[in-house]
Amino acid sequence: MLKIKNLHAQIEDKEILKGIDLEINAGEVHAIMGPNGSGKSTLSSVIAGKEEFEVTQGEILFEGEELNDIDPEVRAHKGVFLSFQYPVEIPGVSVTNFIKTAINAKRKAHGENDMPASEMLKLIREKSEMLEIDRKFLSRSLNTGFSGGEKKRNEIFQMAMLEPKLAILDETDSGLDIDALQVVAKGVNKLRRKDNAVLLITHYQRLLNYIVPDYVHVMIDGKIVKSGGKELAHELEERGYDWIKAEKTV
Ligand code: ADP
Ligand code: MG
Ligand code: MG
Repeated sequence: MLKIKNLHAQIEDKEILKGIDLEINAGEVHAIMGPNGSGKSTLSSVIAGKEEFEVTQGEILFEGEELNDIDPEVRAHKGVFLSFQYPVEIPGVSVTNFIKTAINAKRKAHGENDMPASEMLKLIREKSEMLEIDRKFLSRSLNTGFSGGEKKRNEIFQMAMLEPKLAILDETDSGLDIDALQVVAKGVNKLRRKDNAVLLITHYQRLLNYIVPDYVHVMIDGKIVKSGGKELAHELEERGYDWIKAEKTV
């Protein structure tokens, strides 16, 4: 599904990604861990196509197609979803109306008409029940006064509704309480399927107790320096990152 080859990217002439190789197949959950500032969020932004970063070398292939020169909206329409790290507040636009607009924009990009209202309602009902989201929440203004857990609930709801092929969830190191952690974990587990994939970027080893990844990668200073199975996350929790840095310099 996703193949990244020798990816280098920079911002303001500073190289952040220094040769990333990563391959993600349908049905897999990959976790990327690493110290703060190692380039994890940059990688998610570059995959999603955020324009402030410049790809200087290498390529990103999504379902065999090179993404490098494709706009972020078009990537989203092709099925790449990036969760918001700092969600915007949109007073007056409800959770439901926001997602309706996003779904119809995606359909339009694929040459389809708006989703009929009855079908949309059915979909909303189905997904909100699956994720245990109540109706009151759906009519609230987007992100306005949301708690950490509610922000996550909204992100997971959007992901469930849009059914991306590749979901990139970039968890920042602040503000994820146990409620939010469980919302993310439950949601991701319910949405795991054979035909989609998840790239989970996290500082929280604990999250990986609930979402068991197929592969764990460690990113240090713009490179993936070690990859392994789920046990690597436990090893990182116990031993930190220094032993990997030491291994690299031997
Ligand atoms: P991580 O997510 O692993 O904490 P980031 O990708 O956020 O790491 O950051 C990697 C490096 O890129 C850091 O040195 C950071 O200061 C730098 N960086 C990230 N975003 C920007 C930006 N918009 N402008 C300048 N430097 C940035
Ligand atoms: Mg950071
Ligand atoms: Mg980050």
